[in-house]
Amino acid sequence: MSPLPKNRLPLFLLALINLVTGVTLFLVLSRPAHQPLPQKPKPSPPALSMLATPPDWSALEIYQNSITREDFERLLTTVFTTGNVWKNVIEIADTEARIKTGSSPTDEIFHLHFAQSGLETKVPRHWRTASELPAATPGMPLTDLKIAIDPGHIGGAWAKMEERWMVVGDGSPVCEGDMTLQVAKLLKPKLEALGATVSLVREKTEPVTPIRPDALLTLARTNAPDASPVQIQKDAERLFYRTAEIRARADLVNQTLKPDLVLCLHFNAEAWGDPNNPTLIDHTHFHLVVNGAYNDEEVLLADQRFALLQKLFQRTQQEEILLGSTIAATFAETSGLPPYQYPPESLNVRPIDGQPYLWARNLLANRLYDCPVIFMEPYVMNSTIDYPRIQAGDYEGLREIAGKMRPSIFQEYASAVAAGLSKYYSAPRARKKVPPQ
Ligand SMILES: [Zn+2]
Repeated sequence: MSPLPKNRLPLFLLALINLVTGVTLFLVLSRPAHQPLPQKPKPSPPALSMLATPPDWSALEIYQNSITREDFERLLTTVFTTGNVWKNVIEIADTEARIKTGSSPTDEIFHLHFAQSGLETKVPRHWRTASELPAATPGMPLTDLKIAIDPGHIGGAWAKMEERWMVVGDGSPVCEGDMTLQVAKLLKPKLEALGATVSLVREKTEPVTPIRPDALLTLARTNAPDASPVQIQKDAERLFYRTAEIRARADLVNQTLKPDLVLCLHFNAEAWGDPNNPTLIDHTHFHLVVNGAYNDEEVLLADQRFALLQKLFQRTQQEEILLGSTIAATFAETSGLPPYQYPPESLNVRPIDGQPYLWARNLLANRLYDCPVIFMEPYVMNSTIDYPRIQAGDYEGLREIAGKMRPSIFQEYASAVAAGLSKYYSAPRARKKVPPQ
């Protein structure tokens, strides 16, 4: 056998290459049309709070270059969180924060670029701090200020359902939602007389939301498939008066009222047991809540993480602390109420330095309202000190109660809040300094 002539070799190789290419092309082209191409796994829906909608992360674009790395880290770790789980969803790099928009590894990352110190851009927002308001009319320190008053709870026929109702013997029932509305109606004209534009988030003992518990039964059942029918009914009711109601109020505040400030009015209580035979205790207290102290579980929910960041970028808490400390001091002086102390092991609160009456908490209302929120928690409705004052109702002037001449508890509440606001906004607005937070 003669060897292949040397000049035939390239032709042989060419034929071989053609054969291989042809076979490969045949295999690729003959793949069935329905066979899918390999795909990126779909992100799972983000974990959200009850009745929350997924946040639009692009809304945070307006905060690009508005905060330094140092300020961001300090506010996040010392004000807004109580644990360390935020590190799973927020990475602080040198020039940017990388924020997970969902809970799965494939979710998109939102990049927030830090500013260089001194070069922070101004944050656009609808509400104004005291120092941003124009000069006030003399004697009317609240000129130009837009205030929304949110009388806590619903009251009336709903008071028992929302567990803000109790009765002692043959006394008048105590309904927190009715009492907060009473204070709101006394407070409104006082603030208007000082120059403010005031709206009430609710004007009667009826819900703001059109949703009723029956419409939430399916959701309650889905959340707790093994719960008893009685429990599911209770859960649906709670979703109504707590979640849906506060979300409806937030829509009203954020979309229609757009105030500079919301005053959430409440009366505090301690565990009273049976509402028809409540436990009375012998002490009373007062505290005021500002937004902050998101716990680990809350930081992992996309909507709460988004809200936390929005509050942080808007520096809402700074204004809440400035105003809150003035209101708290005035209120304490007027009422004589001592400060409430949360148990030291509480994971949902942070004390505010140097402010015994102020505490940071992440409540639905002070998280959802898109402006500074002063959340009042004075008096203890089931205390032997405040209960007789509540029973006395509203009256003008002073009356003797438990051996002491006192104004009505409702008048005292409204006057003290108005005096605090008047004092805070009376300080020369242009000279008001923003202290480091
Ligand atoms: Zn309350």
